[in-house]
Amino acid sequence: MAPKWVWFFGGGKAEGNIGMKDVLGGKGAALADMTTLGLPVPPGFTIGTGACTLYNRSRGKFPPEVKKEIAANLARLERAAGRKFGDARNPLLLSVRSGARDSMPGMMDTILNLGLNEKTVEGLAGKSGNPRFAYDSYRRFLAMFSEIVLGIPKGTFGPLFEEKKLERGAESGVELSVEDLKDLCRKFKALAKERVKKDFPQDPLVQLELARDAVFRSWNNDRAAFYRKSSGIPDDIGTAATVQAMVFGNMGDTSATGVGFTRNPSTGAREFYGEYLVNSQGEDVVAGIRTPRPIREMRKQFPKVYDQLVRIAGRLEKRYKDVQDFEFTIENNRLYMLQTRPGKCTAAAAVRIAVDMVREKLYTKEEVILRIEPRQIEQLLHPVIDPGAVADVIARGYPASPGAAAGVAVFHADKAVERAAEGKDVILVRKETSPDDIHGMDAARGILTAKGGMTSHAAVVARQMEKACITGCDGIDVDEATSRFMAGGRLVHEGDYITLNGDTGEVILGKAPLIAPKMTGPFGTFLSWADAFRRLAVRANADTPRDARAAREFGAEGIGMCRTEHMFLSEARLPIMREMILARTTEDREAALTRLLPMQREDFKALFREMKGHPVTIRLLDPPLNEFLPKREDLMVEVTKLELIRADRSLVEEKKRLLARVEELHEFNPLLGLRGCRLGIAYPEITRMQVRAFFEAACEAAREGLRPMPGVMVPLVSLAREMKDQKELVVQVAEETMKRFKRKIPYTVGAMVELPRAALTADEIAREAEFFSFGTNDLTQTTFGFSREDSGAIIKSYMGRHILEEDIFATLDLEGVGQLVRVGMQKGKSTRPTLKAGLCGEHGGDPKSVDFCHRTGLDYVSCSPYRVPVARLAAAQAALRERQEAKAGRK
Ligand code: ADP
Ligand code: MG
Ligand code: MG
Repeated sequence: MAPKWVWFFGGGKAEGNIGMKDVLGGKGAALADMTTLGLPVPPGFTIGTGACTLYNRSRGKFPPEVKKEIAANLARLERAAGRKFGDARNPLLLSVRSGARDSMPGMMDTILNLGLNEKTVEGLAGKSGNPRFAYDSYRRFLAMFSEIVLGIPKGTFGPLFEEKKLERGAESGVELSVEDLKDLCRKFKALAKERVKKDFPQDPLVQLELARDAVFRSWNNDRAAFYRKSSGIPDDIGTAATVQAMVFGNMGDTSATGVGFTRNPSTGAREFYGEYLVNSQGEDVVAGIRTPRPIREMRKQFPKVYDQLVRIAGRLEKRYKDVQDFEFTIENNRLYMLQTRPGKCTAAAAVRIAVDMVREKLYTKEEVILRIEPRQIEQLLHPVIDPGAVADVIARGYPASPGAAAGVAVFHADKAVERAAEGKDVILVRKETSPDDIHGMDAARGILTAKGGMTSHAAVVARQMEKACITGCDGIDVDEATSRFMAGGRLVHEGDYITLNGDTGEVILGKAPLIAPKMTGPFGTFLSWADAFRRLAVRANADTPRDARAAREFGAEGIGMCRTEHMFLSEARLPIMREMILARTTEDREAALTRLLPMQREDFKALFREMKGHPVTIRLLDPPLNEFLPKREDLMVEVTKLELIRADRSLVEEKKRLLARVEELHEFNPLLGLRGCRLGIAYPEITRMQVRAFFEAACEAAREGLRPMPGVMVPLVSLAREMKDQKELVVQVAEETMKRFKRKIPYTVGAMVELPRAALTADEIAREAEFFSFGTNDLTQTTFGFSREDSGAIIKSYMGRHILEEDIFATLDLEGVGQLVRVGMQKGKSTRPTLKAGLCGEHGGDPKSVDFCHRTGLDYVSCSPYRVPVARLAAAQAALRERQEAKAGRK
């Protein structure tokens, strides 16, 4: 069969369908589907993505079959519309729209009113009896076509339009007369000619060809390429081009254009949501030029159309089982549907909608759990503005995308990128945004615009990027040229801090205090549903009572790793720690340790209290001792300085002693030196103190009526004998302590498997260790020989060159490091079938790594408190996927 290039839709029938997004693009597929459903869609045809790929590969040429199919479909479209393209008396006008499989802002803008020229514009005026409308369409076409297809820079025609309005004292374009518009058309045409040194193309067929080619070429423009890169869309799938009969929302007060959502895309509330603008066309409603009206008001102004639209939108949502984002036009009180697609919602909205849709019986719990991207819910954990704080609110706008964002104000996209690269949090402030600002929005924490509504460009893109955004903030007066804005009588310059509250629409001067969000409402419900399906337990890496509390809030089922050294870093404790390290004799060391013991015990006790009967696993002291001491270079400089100024002898001596000890402890490769269990073996009194503090805390907690579940893990084990050495010590001190307290508390002693040798000899190590905790941060470092602290740049460059596909410190390297984990599990279980195993390290909060842990049969993952909800969802998804696969396998 000969390949097909073009697909027609119209008159209640369509050649394409919703399953053909790859070929027709999302837009073309949905238009075909809506046509088949009998909805009022203007007829048209879609040139498939295959033609785009062909066009770009052959550097701008089409085989004759493609052209023939386009011509045949155009003829068919003329019949369906009852008008001829280029007809001087009753012209058919077209829109040319781009649309790829994935919705992609950044590609070519749509061209409307194509087919207009000096003759057809008169025909349109005569036929409609509305010359004002005809010339309004023509001036739009001249500017759009010039800027989009002929490549004349954006904004070239705007000033002429503004000038005209000023001349007439008009607030907006709708107030201009036919004569004004005619004059503008003349000027636009002349300006276009001057810029491209050619007459504006008058032949409608030539216009169509040029527009079609511009759509296909736009696939490769910078904006589109940037967007694909940042959202992981492949470069080779191409875009479709849809050519469609125009309908007109700019015919006067009985006409309008609008956009809507079947539910609120910011909060997820079940309410009809959107905006419309009378006597307007195309993007007017979202461009923020005139402020549109809320869609509910249509009920009064266009009651019949409103009811029809609500019905249609409801039908579409049911059919696609997803929030719909739709576009419509009203031409002389008649409704036309121009687009529908899944609505991009914020994470908060997505979760609420998922919960609602289960209650509405559109989905099962299993289905919605699999539909939410675990990474997406991280946004729900972002801090919110402390509702109790006094905030200096200087303006209010639409809460277009939720969340809190604080940063320095910048007024240009490039500047946003620049300042962000310097490590600043930035807020991009604009009158309104356009697709040209996309890189700046990407770099910004939040976006603030003076104009536009809840569906403006800024709002839509911000929601998609999961950034706080406030639009339509007419209380601010933005001066982009001088990079500042006025609000409530205050002047905000570039570089000044502002905070956006995307939940309320408040703009706050300065940095507002932020607090952790609460896990209540639909989010809590959703995660509790997820919990019912998962097999992996989720614990947290928490070092302080504060971390532990946050972890519990987020649903952690215990502490998988407490890095005990973090308890020594406070100002009060560090000097004692240093004393311990500097001690020359065991006695001195023990004296210092004795002072540290009660401090550590109190912290441990707080952890047991927070964890209320969930396991608390501590890691014995792990880092090289040098990390607690001043830097060698700094000390050298200091000593020299002190000697130069002939400072007090005893002070100099003290510093020298410190330096001498630092030099003794100096290692070229501290990561591979005296650390982990090697420390506890060299200085058993350290292990002894930590274990004693831990078990005293456990005993005291038990005395308070808690049921502590202590676990001790030995870091950086590579030899079974190391494990044996430390385990014996732990057991001895634990038993002694409990005996003193006359308590018997069950506890476990395990090994951190974070060196390749430990994984490879896991059978031997498991004879001693009751559990394994795979420390995948170190295991990744030691497997690759990449230091996590030093290799960021290398890894980034590797990713750029596709030597690595992912950051190995964020997503577990399943092939290599994962293999070691698998081997470790197998071998470990071979000598101790009851061995429990978990994974701690950054990877514990990474969905793909969590999936791996599930499949490899681990018992738990442990991650930072803020990642706990992500891990809970990822673990549920892993279990559900496994179940699906088992089902599929049985069939
Ligand atoms: P985008 O992908 O940017 O949404 P669209 O192709 O949907 O671009 O078109 C941009 C604007 O033009 C939208 O407001 C849309 O409703 C309007 N539009 C597209 N085709 C037509 C048409 N045939 N008649 C009237 N308006 C149209
Ligand atoms: Mg659209
Ligand atoms: Mg480690």
